[in-house]
Amino acid sequence: MKSVGRINGKTQLIGLLATPIGHSLSPSMHNMAFKKLGLNYAYLAFEVGNDSLEDAIKGLRALNVKGFNVSMPNKTKILPFLDELADSAKFSGAVNTVVNDNGVLVGHSTDGMGYIRNLKEHGVDITGKKMTLIGSGGAATPIAIQAALEGLEELTIFARHDEFYSKAVENVKIINEEMKHVSCKAKLYSLEDTDMLREEIRTSDILTNGTGVGMKPLEEFSIIEDISMLRPDLIVTDVVYMPMRSKLLEQAESIGCHTINGIGMMIWQGAMAFELWTGKEMPVEYIKEQMF
Ligand code: NAD
Repeated sequence: MKSVGRINGKTQLIGLLATPIGHSLSPSMHNMAFKKLGLNYAYLAFEVGNDSLEDAIKGLRALNVKGFNVSMPNKTKILPFLDELADSAKFSGAVNTVVNDNGVLVGHSTDGMGYIRNLKEHGVDITGKKMTLIGSGGAATPIAIQAALEGLEELTIFARHDEFYSKAVENVKIINEEMKHVSCKAKLYSLEDTDMLREEIRTSDILTNGTGVGMKPLEEFSIIEDISMLRPDLIVTDVVYMPMRSKLLEQAESIGCHTINGIGMMIWQGAMAFELWTGKEMPVEYIKEQMF
C-alpha cells in the first residue's frame, strides 16, 4: 500500500485562530502555496475567540504544530500565552503569526512586514524617507512600528480623537523612546488639524491611509478631503483593498501620484508568515493569479 493524496502521516499542521472565520482567505492562500511548492503542510481555520484561546494554544502546543496565525479578536489577547515576542510583535503589542521554534512559541506581527515588502515590490524603499500615516488601529500600528524598524527616518501620525487615539500616543512614545536602535523620529497630530496635515504631507515622501475610510461601507469617502494636499511626486498608499482602487487612490491617480493599494500588504503579510514557518518564499505571483 502507498499513501495517496497530499495529506499523509508526516503532514504538519498550521492553524488560524479567529472568529468570525468563514470569510478568511488565508486557508486557500496557504494551502495553494503548499501544494504549488510540494510542501507537506496543511492550513486549517479554527473558530476560536478570546474565551477558548488559552486552551486552543495549549492544544496546539501539545500537538507540536509548526505554527499558526491569529486574527481578530485574538491579536492582543494572545500575548500572555506565548514564550517570546519578535520586535515586530513586541513593539506593536499584537501578534498575527506564531512560530513553534522547537517547543518555544514565538509571536510575530507580519502585517507591517507585508506592507513594507509590498512597497519594495512596487519599487519603493522607505529607508531615509518621511511618511505621513493616518490612523493607529490594527493595520496602522504595525505599519508604524515596522517602518521605524526598517529604516524610515521620520513618521508623522494623524489620528482622530476616538478610542484609538491613546494607541497613537503610545506608538509615538515607543518609536521615540523604547526603540533605541532605530533612528526614526515620530510625531503625532490630531487629524482635525488640517493645516498641519497639509504641511506634513507637503514634506513627506509617502502618505498612507491606515484607516477603514474608503473601505466598504465607507467606499464613497476619502481620508483626504482637499486634493490640493497631494502632489505628483507623492507616493500614496492605502491599507484598503475593497475596492482595489479606493477614493483616496482615485484622487491621487488623478494628480499623477504613484499609488499602491492594500491587496499587496494582505498577500505579503501571509507570505511573510509562510516564510517564517517553512523557510520558503511563497509563490506570490501564482497566488495573485489564482485568487485575485
Ligand atoms: P481598527 O478598527 O483597528 O482601526 C481603525 C482606525 O481607523 C483607527 O485608527 C481609527 O481612529 C481610524 N478611523 C476609523 N474611522 C475613521 C474616520 N471616519 N476618520 C478617521 N479615522 C478613522 O481597524 P483596522 O484593523 O486598523 O482596519 C482598518 C482598515 O484596514 C480596514 O479597512 C481593514 O479592512 C484594513 N486592513 C487591511 C489590511 C491589509 O492587509 N491590507 C490589514 C488589516 C486591516
